[in-house]
Amino acid sequence: MSEHHHTTVAGVAVDTRHWIGGERVASTETFTDISPIDGSTLGKISRGTAMEAAAAVAAAKAAFPGWAATPRAERARILHAIADGVEKRLEELAVVETHDNGALLRSHRRGVMPRVAHNFRFFADRLLTLDHEDFTTRGHTNRVTWDPAGPCVLITPWNAPLMLATWKVAPALAAGNTVILKPAEWSPLTASLLADIAAGAGLPAGVLNVVQGLGPEIGDALTAHPDVRRISFTGSVPTARHIAASAAANLTPLSLELGGKSPLLVFADADLDLAVDLAVEQYDNAGQVCLAATRILVEEGIAAEFTRRFTDKAARLRQGDPRDEATDIGPNIHPRQLEKIDGFVRRALADGARAVVGGHRGEGQYYAPTLLTDVRQDSEIVQEEVFGPVLTLQTFTDEDEAVRLANDTRFGLAATVATGDPARAERVTARLVAGTVWVNCFFVRDLRAPFGGSRHSGVGREGDTWSFDFYCDLKNTVTAPKGWQDHG
Ligand code: NAD
Repeated sequence: MSEHHHTTVAGVAVDTRHWIGGERVASTETFTDISPIDGSTLGKISRGTAMEAAAAVAAAKAAFPGWAATPRAERARILHAIADGVEKRLEELAVVETHDNGALLRSHRRGVMPRVAHNFRFFADRLLTLDHEDFTTRGHTNRVTWDPAGPCVLITPWNAPLMLATWKVAPALAAGNTVILKPAEWSPLTASLLADIAAGAGLPAGVLNVVQGLGPEIGDALTAHPDVRRISFTGSVPTARHIAASAAANLTPLSLELGGKSPLLVFADADLDLAVDLAVEQYDNAGQVCLAATRILVEEGIAAEFTRRFTDKAARLRQGDPRDEATDIGPNIHPRQLEKIDGFVRRALADGARAVVGGHRGEGQYYAPTLLTDVRQDSEIVQEEVFGPVLTLQTFTDEDEAVRLANDTRFGLAATVATGDPARAERVTARLVAGTVWVNCFFVRDLRAPFGGSRHSGVGREGDTWSFDFYCDLKNTVTAPKGWQDHG
């Protein structure tokens, strides 16, 4: 077999071609996928063009009528079978994902991959209970149905590749749509394994297509395609702008999950140890988490003590090989991302910021966990998403100032509040602009809740029925009462 068709990652065979219409399809060109762990080449991946985009959309279009007409119970059964397949190959998925994007193996094993399976089970089950009760209008029956929309293009980032992809794939398929998934070019491998798992679970050919390639090439061709009925994108704001413009030509409905610059508000009445734990947790996944509370806002009176405890705790973090169970922080995804992170920090330091913790690169693909103080609210480091292990610390004197600083960016993805006063928690959370607010906790997530961002953090919400709202063409059918002819 050609090295351009397959690769083996830690003993796991991965097909590096596209999966279109139930067949593996190779492009003549490839791109190189490297591991953030050691920079080694993981594989040569098919580099799709407008031609493969068109083929994938055609396959999805051809498969749509059959899948849309498949009874819901059967669609749900197949989604559960995919979840079974994910669980059966959980260790392989975890290992491949860690080699591909550098996130911790223990998180992939125990948190992320079980959630991938859960994504399928949740939307499979939810599908079966979607229906509204019929209701009547002057004797006429209203029946609301959730009709499938058609081929959906799903474009995803590299920071949690399979988790974020299946969060879209599962509801899109459950709804009766067909899918073209394009994973990020820095972490393309688990999407290919998902194609194998779905085929093994009996998903008909063409219902799930996976294409590989670079955003401006195949991604662009997919989002501009007139036969696409939905585009769901998770990634950065600049790419979202581009995709939205491209979708506008066909008025293709869009769901956008974008970046963030979320605040962690620490009030003087908070449990300080908990607040410090929450703050240090923001280094998870080497800071490559859209929800990360990267702006720490601390009430002035406790700022010195908070900083002391934070510094102590951050110094105990173990940065290293993400395959090692003892590691807390792994590498950053790519040399280009590292360059970007370092650029943000260098400009902030030149602008008068002070690095209380870190402030420089580590070895190889690692960036030292960093905490910057003396930052201005209107500075780049406070306003722009870094997507690396870089936090800022600012102080406030009262609730009003805390809320004003918290809301003063163009983002609105999440916010975390640490306080011992439930009344304060209620007052403050009511005023925060964010899709998710956590009080005295972080990252507790449930598919029954809506998820998404306000302002530049996104358009639309995912989760539970909000996902079905997006992936379906809702229809209301109004039927006249029996005997209407008599009254005609
Ligand atoms: P990115 O925007 O660079 O790329 C995301 C995807 O878009 C990739 O698959 C890429 O190939 C594709 N793409 C790039 N240009 C394209 C184009 N012109 N047309 C179509 N597709 C194109 O983002 P990234 O660097 O991969 O991911 C990091 C970003 O994602 C951060 O901003 C982060 O906050 C955000 N993110 C958001 C969420 C959320 O749920 N809100 C979750 C995770 C990550």
